[in-house]
Amino acid sequence: MGNVEHATLRCHHCGQETRHELAYAGRLLVVTSCTRCGESIERDVRGRYLADLRQRMLSKPRRMLRRFRRHPVGFTTSLPRTTVLKPWELVEEVRLVWRAAADARRHDDPTS
Ligand SMILES: [Zn+2]
Repeated sequence: MGNVEHATLRCHHCGQETRHELAYAGRLLVVTSCTRCGESIERDVRGRYLADLRQRMLSKPRRMLRRFRRHPVGFTTSLPRTTVLKPWELVEEVRLVWRAAADARRHDDPTS
């Protein structure tokens, strides 16, 4: 999945402050899960994710150009690691966002 960070939050299921796993896709928080009881909250961020992704793609060439101007040698040698899009990361992010959106919908559906 995307980026995972940890934070101590109050779990609405445990009713206690527990360690939570926060899964991000880019800058967007997608899933918050309690590491104690496994309760998770998914957010449907598809629309915002796509907008954010578009922004990240658009800003990339300018960002790379700026880095190139500052450190031409360092930039060139670091290229293989910083290629414009990291396809695997992107696939993981998209997967995370869409899976969370599906789960979020299921929680909202009173008939399920
Ligand atoms: Zn919990």
